[in-house]
Amino acid sequence: MPATRGYSLETEVQFLRGVGPKLAQVLSKLNIHTLGDLLYHLPRRYEDRRHFRKIAHVRPGEAVTVAGKLITVDNIKVRNNMTLTKAYIDDGSGVLELVWYNQPYLRETLYYLRDRLIVAYGVIKDNPFGLQMETPEWEDLPDGADPDSLLSVNRIVPIYPLTEGIRQKRMRQILWNAVQYAHCAPELIPASIRQRLGLPPIQQALQQIHFPDELDQIEPARRRLVFEEFFLLQLGVGLQRYQNQHEHGIAMRIDTERLNAMLHRIVPFELTNAQKRVIGEIWRDMARPYPMNRLLQGDVGSGKTIVAAAAILAAVDNQYQAAIMAPTEILAEQHYITLHRLFQPLGITVELLVGRLSSRQRQQARERIATGRGMVAVGTHALIQEGVSFARLGLAIVDEQHRFGVLQRAALRDKGVMPHILVMSATPIPRTLTLTLYGELDVSVIDELPPGRKPVKTHWKLPEERIKVYEGVRKLVQQGRQAYIICPLIDESDKLQVRAAEEMAEHLQKDVFPDLRVGLLHGRMRPAEKEAVMEAFRAGEIDILVSTTVIEVGVDVPNAAVIVIEDADRFGLAQLHQLRGRVGRSIHQSYCVLIADPKSEDARRRMEIMVRTNNGFLIAEEDLRIRGPGEIFGTRQSGAPSFRVADVIKDLRLLEVAREEAFRLLEQDPDLSRPEHAALREAVNRFRHRFILATVS
Ligand code: ADP
Ligand code: MG
Repeated sequence: MPATRGYSLETEVQFLRGVGPKLAQVLSKLNIHTLGDLLYHLPRRYEDRRHFRKIAHVRPGEAVTVAGKLITVDNIKVRNNMTLTKAYIDDGSGVLELVWYNQPYLRETLYYLRDRLIVAYGVIKDNPFGLQMETPEWEDLPDGADPDSLLSVNRIVPIYPLTEGIRQKRMRQILWNAVQYAHCAPELIPASIRQRLGLPPIQQALQQIHFPDELDQIEPARRRLVFEEFFLLQLGVGLQRYQNQHEHGIAMRIDTERLNAMLHRIVPFELTNAQKRVIGEIWRDMARPYPMNRLLQGDVGSGKTIVAAAAILAAVDNQYQAAIMAPTEILAEQHYITLHRLFQPLGITVELLVGRLSSRQRQQARERIATGRGMVAVGTHALIQEGVSFARLGLAIVDEQHRFGVLQRAALRDKGVMPHILVMSATPIPRTLTLTLYGELDVSVIDELPPGRKPVKTHWKLPEERIKVYEGVRKLVQQGRQAYIICPLIDESDKLQVRAAEEMAEHLQKDVFPDLRVGLLHGRMRPAEKEAVMEAFRAGEIDILVSTTVIEVGVDVPNAAVIVIEDADRFGLAQLHQLRGRVGRSIHQSYCVLIADPKSEDARRRMEIMVRTNNGFLIAEEDLRIRGPGEIFGTRQSGAPSFRVADVIKDLRLLEVAREEAFRLLEQDPDLSRPEHAALREAVNRFRHRFILATVS
C-alpha cells in the first residue's frame, strides 16, 4: 500500500502521480477536481480482454486481444497528408498487422520496443492484402513483467468517459493510480447495514468498479456506491424532517365535525373519498405543534382546490390567516373567484393580490392583510414581494408547486412565523422524485377523480386533416360545449408568438368559424384584458378560445370539452398532459386533438403515449425516461451532477431501501450526534449542499 500521508479525497488532482496542472485543467472539464471526484469518475462500460487469441484464428469483425513479438514498425505517408503507422506482431501462429492513423509519434515509441512482447486489443478488419487490427489499444510487456500488471489488456478493462485532451489509456492509468488511494475514502455505511444488504466495503467497491477481478464483481460494487448516495441523501432528508418537527409550530384546534359541517354548507358537491382522506391528513398535521410540510399530489382535475379550501377553513377557524400562491395571474384570479364564492356565505373575506390592480387597490388589499381584516390572500408571486406582511399567517399554500423554486416557497413561509405549509402539484411527480427532491415533505395523494368523469379521448391528427378537426370542434360547440385551440410554440420571440396567435384567431374567426365567437388570450395582454377574456369564456360568451400556453396550468372551465393543440410535437409530455387537463372537468365527454407531424422518434413517441394513456403518473415516468433525470433535476442549468453514480429510474428500489435504512438509523440517533457517526454527519451535510445546488435552478 503506498504512503497516504497528506492524501485525502479533497486532494487536488494536480498533486496526484501522473497528473500535473495541465492535465488537471483537462480533467476539470469533466468536473474532476479532487481525488474524490476522480474515484467517482466511473467507467461507462467494460471490455473483457482477458483471453488471448491466436493470430492464426482471428476473424474479421471480431474484437480480440492478441499477444506477440513486435517485429517491425514504420510510418507511411498517404494522400491528404495522412500518416499511417504500421506495426507487425508475431505470436508463432501467424503475423498480424496493426495500424494507426495520424499518430506518427507512435513509430518512435514502438521502435524501441522491437523484439519485445506486445499485447494489443482491437477490432479485426478485412483488407485486400490480409487481416489487420485498426487503432488497437496496446501495451508492451517488459521482460519479466507480470501480465497481471497490465492495465489495458489481459484484464477486464474499464472504458471511461473522456474529453478533449485525454485519451483512454491515459485516463485508465490515472484512475489506476487513484484507486491505490481508495482507502482514503471513509467507510460511511455502518457495518450492520452493509451486512444486511450484502454491500461490499467502500475500498473494495471502488477497486472493483474500476478494475474488476471478475465481471460479476461490477454490479455489487456499483450497488454499494449507489446505495451510499441514496443513503446520504435520505439521511439529509431525515435530519431535515427531525429539525422541522422540533420547530415551534402552530397547534391548531381542529373540530372536525364543525369544519365538516361548514364544508358541507359551502361545497356544492359531495367530496370524493380521496378528497376526504387527504383533508383528514392535512387537518391532523395542522393540529400538531410543529409546522406541516405536506405535498398534495393529484392529477389534473382531481379537485385539489377544494382541499386547499378545507385547509384554509381550518386556519381561519383558528383566527389565523391563510395565503395561496399561484404561478400565473389567470390562475390566481380563478382561485380568487372560487374561494370568494365558497367563503362568502361564511363571511370570510378573500383578498386578491395580482399585477392588474391599481396601486390604490393594491395598497388597500395589503393593508387589510397587514391588519388581519383580510383573512385569506390569493395571489401570484406578488404575495411574496415588497410590502406584503401578514398579521397572523398560519397557513401558506403553494399551488402548482413545480412552477416555483424552493426559494419562493421559503419566502412565502417567511411571511409568517412557522406557518403550516401545503404545496400542491398537478404535475404528477414520479415516486423517484417524491423520494428525492421532495423527500422531506409528507405526501398526500388524490388518486380518484370526481364521479361521472369520462376519460378524455385523445386523437393525433396530421396537419392536412385540420379541416376535419375544425368540423369536430364545430359539432361540439353546437352541442353547447366550448373549445380551446392552442397556438404553435414560437421560440424566437414573444412578439412573433403574439403575432401568430393574433393571426390564428383572426383566420379562425373570419374563414372557419364566422358564425361562432372566437376569443384570444396570450401572455402579452394586459392583466385586466386577460381577466376580461377569461371571464367571458367562463360565462360562455366565447365559444372558441385561441390561446398560447398561458392557460397551461390550473385553469378550470368545466364546460370546455375540447382542446386542439397545434404543433403538438413541439411540446413536452408534461406540458401536453397539463394542457389536456384543461378539459374533462365535467360530466361531458371531452376530447384532446394533437395536430402534429413529428420529425423525430422521441416526438413520435410522445404523441403515441398521449394517445395511449390519460394516466399522469405513467406519463411522468415516460417523460423521465425520455428526457432523462438530468433535465428534471435541473442539472443542465447548473452543470453540477446531482447523483454521480445512481440512476433514479433504474435504481428506484434501492432508493426505497436506502430511505428505510436511513430512517431506521435516525430512530436510534436522530441528529447523528453519536461520535461514531461524525464522519457520516459531515458527509451528509456535504452531499446535501451539492445536491441542493444542483437541483435548485
Ligand atoms: P385540480 O386543481 O386538481 O386540477 P380543481 O380543483 O380545479 O382540480 O377541480 C376540477 C373541477 O372539478 C372543478 O370544476 C371542481 O369544482 C370540480 N370538483 C372538484 N371536486 C369535485 C367533486 N368531489 N365532485 C364534483 N366535482 C368536483
Ligand atoms: Mg388546480
